[in-house]
Amino acid sequence: MELFNLTIHELHGMLNKGETTSEAITESVLGRIKAVDGKVRSYITVTEEVARTQAKQADQAGKSGKAPSPVTGIPVAIKDNMCTEGVKTTCASRILGNFIPPYNATVVENLNKAGYVMPGKANMDEFAMGSSTENSGYFVTRNPWDLERIPGGSSGGSAAAVAAGECIAALGSDTGGSIRQPAACCGVVGLKPTYGRVSRFGLVAFASSLDQIGPITKDVTDAAIIMNLIGGHDPKDSTSADLAMPDFTSSLKKDVKGMTIGIPREYFIDGMDPEVDRSVRDAVKTLEGLGAKVVDVTLPHTGYAVATYYILATSEASSNLARYDGVKYGFRAEGAKDLLDMYMKSRSQGFGPEVKRRIMLGTYALSAGYYDAFYKKGQQVRTLIKRDFDEAFKSVDVIATPTAPTAAFKIGEKSEDPLQMYLSDIFTISVNLAGIPGISIPCGFTKSNLPIGLQLLGKHFDEAAIFRAAFAYEQATDHHKKRPKL
Ligand code: GLN
Repeated sequence: MELFNLTIHELHGMLNKGETTSEAITESVLGRIKAVDGKVRSYITVTEEVARTQAKQADQAGKSGKAPSPVTGIPVAIKDNMCTEGVKTTCASRILGNFIPPYNATVVENLNKAGYVMPGKANMDEFAMGSSTENSGYFVTRNPWDLERIPGGSSGGSAAAVAAGECIAALGSDTGGSIRQPAACCGVVGLKPTYGRVSRFGLVAFASSLDQIGPITKDVTDAAIIMNLIGGHDPKDSTSADLAMPDFTSSLKKDVKGMTIGIPREYFIDGMDPEVDRSVRDAVKTLEGLGAKVVDVTLPHTGYAVATYYILATSEASSNLARYDGVKYGFRAEGAKDLLDMYMKSRSQGFGPEVKRRIMLGTYALSAGYYDAFYKKGQQVRTLIKRDFDEAFKSVDVIATPTAPTAAFKIGEKSEDPLQMYLSDIFTISVNLAGIPGISIPCGFTKSNLPIGLQLLGKHFDEAAIFRAAFAYEQATDHHKKRPKL
């Protein structure tokens, strides 16, 4: 197999044995980007120079006998909403088209310290608002399994890049499913950690009470490896939890004996694609065969999740995005008559239609006279949704659901109908509202060869349990080994 198709742990093993070099791996990935990115369009910025310099440094460190980390010399793509010092960070928005951060996000800093290689900054929906990457202010990313289809979103560039071999692994962010849903659409692994597990310092804010950064990888082991490096307390993020970090690779065991897996009846609904339904049910049977006890659970407030999310996320977004006013940084429109006109022109020209829609929705939900009816009510329902999970987790270790109701849809199919688009998040957003961790892993393919995702959810800060179940399932199947033909 080509180097670009291998995993972090496979390449790490080869590096340790002297069978390859970081320069060779990096050239393989950069060559792959040259060969396929014209079709897939995963990257907003390819950082060839940075990557080559980092690869050289990694190889030199290896020669000098410095103990490598598991990602030393390995190319990991960064979603373009995480600040990278000296490298443009656009959030896929025109309003940040010229923004070069003077600092690194904590996650990037951590990977840097571990000696990783950055091949580039991945495309996304503008400000992470979307489920298809069609809302990018620059271009649409295509699904490597079928170029006519969406890669999912908002971390669509990251997931497509991993699936297409345009990086070895990637970082994404997940506010309402943006790591898990694109991972499902592209046939890769995506983990949204518990809220507070990974520092958000240097992540461009969308909805601060929901946003989390996490890995998108080719298999579960790689996700655990990245989590070990990016997780943990960060004094620069007041919402990051001051808790000890387990070694997640030690939770990767081949069985699930003694584990109880809950199946929420609210997640197997009419309108779900029958092929998705069947694959997920088969996956649960596989887990049962590996020793898990499977029981029914109920999450009665699930039906309110989409509405609740779109009140709370847009409210937080309207507040967070008020900072883009053309004054200190970012895009400033030409030809304004006065200050107010400059604000209005800069924001009108700088933001795309979905971002404007969200700012208007959120401003409305927070406005005097409507706050109690919308924002406050949303917060109350959020508590009920969280309590549903607390109750269910009294009797189970892990909850299994589909990641998305359908496989990847066609480009353009839902872009004119925001509500249909919002409904693609129906199985992922409750998880962000509750703050719990969730992973999506490949669990099969449709007849037309599109990947299907299984979602596994855990208790707060119990990523270890979902890693264990996910790894056991993965070892018993080979969906994760398939690569798209490009
Ligand atoms: N698709 C959801 C939205 O548009 C989730 C996005 C995300 O997780 N960043 O808000």
